[in-house]
Amino acid sequence: MNPTSHALFAGHAWLPGGWRRNVLLEWDDAGQLRAVTPDLTRAPEGVPQAAGPVMPGMPNLHSHAFQRAMAGLTEYRANPTDSFWSWRDLMYRFAARITPDDLGAIAGWLYVEMLKAGYTSVCEFHYVHHAEDGRRYGNPAELAQRAVDAAADTGIGMTLLPVLYQYSGFGAQKPRDDQRRFINTPDQLLELIDTLRRARPEHGALRYGVAPHSLRAVSKDSLQTMLDGLDAMLPGAPVHIHIAEQTAEVDACLATEGARPVQWLLNRFDVNARWCLVHATHVDAAETGALANSGAVAGLCLTTEANLGDGIFPAHDYLEAGGVFGVGSDSHIGVDWRAELRLLEYGQRLVRRQRNVLASAQTVQVADRLFDAALAGGARATGRATGALIAGARADWIVLDPQHADLAEQSPDTWLSSVVFCEHGETPVLDVYAGGEKVVERRRHRHEERLYAVYRKALARLLLNA
Ligand SMILES: [Zn+2]
Repeated sequence: MNPTSHALFAGHAWLPGGWRRNVLLEWDDAGQLRAVTPDLTRAPEGVPQAAGPVMPGMPNLHSHAFQRAMAGLTEYRANPTDSFWSWRDLMYRFAARITPDDLGAIAGWLYVEMLKAGYTSVCEFHYVHHAEDGRRYGNPAELAQRAVDAAADTGIGMTLLPVLYQYSGFGAQKPRDDQRRFINTPDQLLELIDTLRRARPEHGALRYGVAPHSLRAVSKDSLQTMLDGLDAMLPGAPVHIHIAEQTAEVDACLATEGARPVQWLLNRFDVNARWCLVHATHVDAAETGALANSGAVAGLCLTTEANLGDGIFPAHDYLEAGGVFGVGSDSHIGVDWRAELRLLEYGQRLVRRQRNVLASAQTVQVADRLFDAALAGGARATGRATGALIAGARADWIVLDPQHADLAEQSPDTWLSSVVFCEHGETPVLDVYAGGEKVVERRRHRHEERLYAVYRKALARLLLNA
């Protein structure tokens, strides 16, 4: 074997098309898979064996890292009509206090939690850019760089999406005072990205894109200016946007723009596979079909959408129309792709009073279909080669615990169903490899103690001042 290559032998591995036996995974020093060979007659001599079945790691397509530290702190009634909007006020108060050290500490611990859950990539939708008083830091990318460095420290693959936030509402309304840490012009945001990519150049585990926050927060012209500037710098880079999460946003868009948000965007921009439309909860039948046809990814964040009372995305109709989706943990009240996929199916079951709604004639196991679809859509949203055990992809995978009570004595064809739909005790995710590095071993991240201590310190300061 070539001395610069690395290898692992798996008794079972989830390849395109399903479980295969006796699979040899080989990758290079840069963390890229070089060859995936199934159906060997036996394990090659000297190659380590995986402790259980191997599956691709899941991309997490939507994260606001700092919100991890406020998970659980908004579950009380502040007024009789608590909603997304009253939650947002609390979230802004929390965002106002985050220092660069805090952000690095929170992101470091959060990415450890993601890796332990089997997320091997994250798309960080990063919008806190400036100091507490709204002034720019000496390095305009100060906070964004902390998220990039936290990803590198933990080993998770990163797509960093600096957010363009200009306005507080449709019709270019002046930003609120509590949004001052978020505000940039398109040129300022492009400068921030340029600074960042010079300090931390792109590589196999790091990609940059951009995130117009929402149609509330940008205008048609500013969005166009930013996309033109982005393409001059990073052609084809990913573009993520929050859209149609709340009915109030749909109503405001209709009132000021004369169109629903998804319809408005699809009519004015070349929305294609580089786009990720986060939430897209409130789409009518025409928008559902048009979004599916566009090749864009619907960025579904089911646990957060449930927590915030957003609504239910028409997943059945969207998948029937061939739509692409991935999942994200967004506000991080939980960090587990299994819960996201479960809730995606359960929302449809509760609405339709049926079971196994999101299965298809080709793939009768719901979990198998949702897992493969979320891998493909999530990978598309990252703009990176990940999400499949194939040559050329990043060496990102999970090793399941074959001794876990939810998997014991089962045959492979129900493993994924048990992983997604059962929840008994500790996670079945035993080991995790990211870029070929074994970053989680027997449910422990290699830097877990250090990063937890740093996180606790940041939390103590933040919660003391809450
Ligand atoms: Zn979000």
